[in-house]
Amino acid sequence: TRQWQLASRPVGEPTAENFELVTVDRPEPDDGEVLVKTLYQSVDPYMRGRMRDAESYAEPWDVGDPMRAGVVGEVLESEADGFEEGDVVTGDLLWAEHAVGDADELRKVNPELGPVSTALGVLGMPGVTAYWGLLDVGDPKPGDTVFVSAAAGAVGSVVGQLARLNGARVVGTAGSDEKIEWLTEELGFDAAINYKETDDLSGAVAEACPNGIDVYFDNVGGPITDAVWPRLNEFSRVAICGQIALYNETEVPTGPRKLATLIEKRAKVEGLLVSDYQDRWGEALKRLARFIQEDEIRYRENVVEGFENAPDAFLGLFEGENIGKQLVKVAEF
Ligand code: NDP
Repeated sequence: TRQWQLASRPVGEPTAENFELVTVDRPEPDDGEVLVKTLYQSVDPYMRGRMRDAESYAEPWDVGDPMRAGVVGEVLESEADGFEEGDVVTGDLLWAEHAVGDADELRKVNPELGPVSTALGVLGMPGVTAYWGLLDVGDPKPGDTVFVSAAAGAVGSVVGQLARLNGARVVGTAGSDEKIEWLTEELGFDAAINYKETDDLSGAVAEACPNGIDVYFDNVGGPITDAVWPRLNEFSRVAICGQIALYNETEVPTGPRKLATLIEKRAKVEGLLVSDYQDRWGEALKRLARFIQEDEIRYRENVVEGFENAPDAFLGLFEGENIGKQLVKVAEF
């Protein structure tokens, strides 16, 4: 079976040379474990942090080790109670065609509830991040203006729609006209800004948010945050979910900027981590599944075919190649 290993640590933008495809023996499950055949593998921005040799909320990978990823797969062999051959499961496994997983760390996926791939996106980690990040940290009220960056991504697209369902005016940024059209024509965003085509980002944010901003759900940081902060309203909330604009920086050029706005506006800035919501994971998924069933929430997946293309799919995240959740299809279900 094949797996991807970390060949070297990137400096700045990661490249294909940082990954090595190797063939290894197919592992065998011990007591309490199952052997999983990967159907879909997730690639996620936080993996950039794990390629770096530095403390972060996720442990760094060692050079020469296989990398880990969210996977949806089929159980081929089970040595664990509660799992049988043919079950579809999801969990954190390897960037691999086959991997052994601890039964305690796997969750069963019900294929009757929808495409199994959604367990890595709207009905998985990104969906839960959007749900609790917005509702718990952002705390939107009806009539608020909610601003979300990377709005056409896996997390951002769900945040925007949940904000709309909460009665907010929703504005977002994304990096292509196709994404802007999806946000405004299909997902119900009130306005969306193509930040790559805008010379005056501050002006565009001001125009799109005539009543200021009450909740900023930030996936990106950098210049978008610079444009957003001066528009924050009194007692607004800023949920820092991600800072992808900075992940490939070798040095962050300055400290956080424009903080004086926060004094004047008594705004609250709070970081969030989806792993803090383990206990409320199921509640978020249940609500999200219902919204999808009722066509209140729509989602897209950007599927790259073939395990050998997993690094390309990952690198594409930093180019904005994905609309919705970026996935790698490894095997037919
Ligand atoms: P996305 O599906 O949103 O993919 C990343 C997107 O980021 C790209 O499509 C691209 O879209 C945008 N982007 C990439 N580089 C830049 C840049 N330099 N400047 C501006 N935009 C950029 O990924 P996810 O939804 O999985 O994750 C979104 C964010 O949330 C990430 O920062 C991630 O690290 C974070 N996250 C945090 C979690 C937590 O627990 N705190 C959990 C999950 C995710 P575009 O076309 O708009 O440029």
